[in-house]
Amino acid sequence: MASLEEREVYQHLGTPTGVHVRQTPEDTIVEILRDASQINSSLLAPWQKINVLNTFLISRISFLLRGSAVARVPLNKADNTIRQLVKRWLYLSQRTSTDIIYIFHRQGGANVPQLGDLCDMAVMTHAFRLLTCPDPTVRSIAQEAVRSMVRKRITRAPSEQEIATYLSVSLEAEFGRERGDLSSLWSCACNTSRLLGKRIGCCWKWCEERRELGILVPCLKTPDHTIVTLTARAMLEKTLKDTICCLYAENLKRKPDQGKVFEVSSKWDASNHFLPRGSFTRFADWRFVHRARLHCIPLNGAIRHGNRDKHCRKCGYANKTLPHVLCGCKQHSRAWRHRHNAIPNWLVKAIPPSLGKITLDSAIPGTDSRL
Ligand SMILES: [Zn+2]
Repeated sequence: MASLEEREVYQHLGTPTGVHVRQTPEDTIVEILRDASQINSSLLAPWQKINVLNTFLISRISFLLRGSAVARVPLNKADNTIRQLVKRWLYLSQRTSTDIIYIFHRQGGANVPQLGDLCDMAVMTHAFRLLTCPDPTVRSIAQEAVRSMVRKRITRAPSEQEIATYLSVSLEAEFGRERGDLSSLWSCACNTSRLLGKRIGCCWKWCEERRELGILVPCLKTPDHTIVTLTARAMLEKTLKDTICCLYAENLKRKPDQGKVFEVSSKWDASNHFLPRGSFTRFADWRFVHRARLHCIPLNGAIRHGNRDKHCRKCGYANKTLPHVLCGCKQHSRAWRHRHNAIPNWLVKAIPPSLGKITLDSAIPGTDSRL
C-alpha cells in the first residue's frame, strides 16, 4: 500500500482518491470530448455517431459520477460541446431548442443524457443506496453521519422526519442556521436534492407506519407520484431518469412553434422508429426530418427575426410555412400525388398474392362510395 501525502492522489476505480484532493475526473472529460470530436470528423452516419457517443463515450463517466465528488463547471462545459455536436448531427441550427437532444428515442429525441443530470442522479442514488444499504454496518455508518450533521444544525437530536426534511430542503427555517458544514457527501446530497426538487419536485419522505425512508418522485404529466423505498431501491435511478426526460419533453411541447409537431410525433414509438439505427432512412431524409419537425426549415414563413416578406414564391400565398409547401401549395400537387401513390404501392407490394385480388386506385367495389 503506497503512503500518500495530503493532496497526493491515486486512482481508485478511475476516481482520483486521497486526502483533500479534487475528485473531478477531468482527464476522463477531456478524453470524452477529444473522442467526440474524432467521431464528428469520422465517416459514420449521423445516427451512428449519436449511438457511439451514447454507448462508448458517455458510459465512461457514468460510473465515475457515482463514487466521486464532481464539480459542475467542467461537466457543464462538456455538455455545451456535446450539445453543439449532436445538433450538428441532427442538422439543426444552434438556435433550435436543446430539449430534443435529451429526450428518449421513442419520443423522438436523440437520447443523449446530459452529464449534469447524470451527476445529480448519481449523487441522489448513491446517498439513497447508502442509507438503505442491506449491510447493517454500512447503513448505520451512513445514517449516523446524516444524523450527526442534522444534530449540528439544529442543536438537538433530530427525529427521522426532520432528517428527511433536512435532506430535501436544507435551507429552510431552523435548518438555515449557518454552521459551516464541511463539504461532505451529505451536504452534496442535500444540495443536489434541493436542485432536483426545484426542477422535478422530488423530495425525501419518512414513512412513520413502515418506519422507512423513501424518495418521492412526482409524475409530471399526471398528479400521480412514485415513492421509491427500500424494496424498490434499484428503481430510483431509472425513475429519476424517466422524470427528467419527461421534463425536457414537456418543455418542448410548451414551445408554440417548435413543440407543435413534437406533441404528436412523441405519442407513438412508431413515429420515431428510425432514430436509433437510421433504418429505412436516407441521408436526405435525416437532414430534413429533424428540422421539419421543429419547424426550422428556412422558409419565408418560418423565419422569426426581421421584417421579411413571408409570401410563397411559387403561388403567392401569404404565409409560406412548411405545411403550406407540403400540403397546400398547388404548384407542388404532382408531389402530393406521388406521395399518396407511394403508400398504396408499398402496401400492394407487402400483401401476399395468395390473399386474393388487389384493386388499386378505383372505387370500392360493391358500394356507391366515391372514396
Ligand atoms: Zn405556395
